[in-house]
Amino acid sequence: MSQTLARERIALMDAEMAPVFAAMVNTATPVACAKGCGSCCTLTVEVSADELFALVDYLEQSLDPDALAALKARARANDAIGHGMEPLARHRKRLVCPVQDPATKACLGHAARPNPCQGYVSVSLPDCEADHADPPRRVERPTMSGILTDLMGGSRDQALASAGMAKTRFELTAGLLAAWREPGAEARWLAGKEIFPDARSYEPAAEPIPAKSR
Ligand code: SF4
Repeated sequence: MSQTLARERIALMDAEMAPVFAAMVNTATPVACAKGCGSCCTLTVEVSADELFALVDYLEQSLDPDALAALKARARANDAIGHGMEPLARHRKRLVCPVQDPATKACLGHAARPNPCQGYVSVSLPDCEADHADPPRRVERPTMSGILTDLMGGSRDQALASAGMAKTRFELTAGLLAAWREPGAEARWLAGKEIFPDARSYEPAAEPIPAKSR
């Protein structure tokens, strides 16, 4: 089921983005993203449970055992450094997403990629390549891609909440490892239970409330 949902949301976002991309071509600012770039795959990706399970399902069905084992090893190595880290600090570590093929830089889970990956669109490859420079260069992105990504995420959250399901987000690498560690977790999530507390997206520590002055 998760893969069907993934195909539908990816197709929907493609359809919504098509006129935006066409308008960008007309204004000489075409999309710079292309297969095998992978520059943005060091960004910290936050995913919902359905996105996570769809990706796991797709990878297990599409990769041979050796490739899947190598991906899991990359995930463990990545998580050993970046687990629980603040997203920007994690990005600065240049931890490449374990789903990226190290040889080709292609996304091995492209057909089931999470919404934030699909919605991250750049108009400048040099900007993306300079994103790790010091200071980093700002990556110009079409406003609509961010708005559509947020709309998709917000709509999903509302649908999950109205179905009585947890809308927790997970950091992608930690989430993948948790899903492989707990094979029965999707059924528990579908039953409305919270899952993977150790893989949740980064939450800044609450600021201490200052004592009232007397
Ligand atoms: S899931 Fe794919 S597109 Fe997203 S960060 Fe990983 S390799 Fe890149």
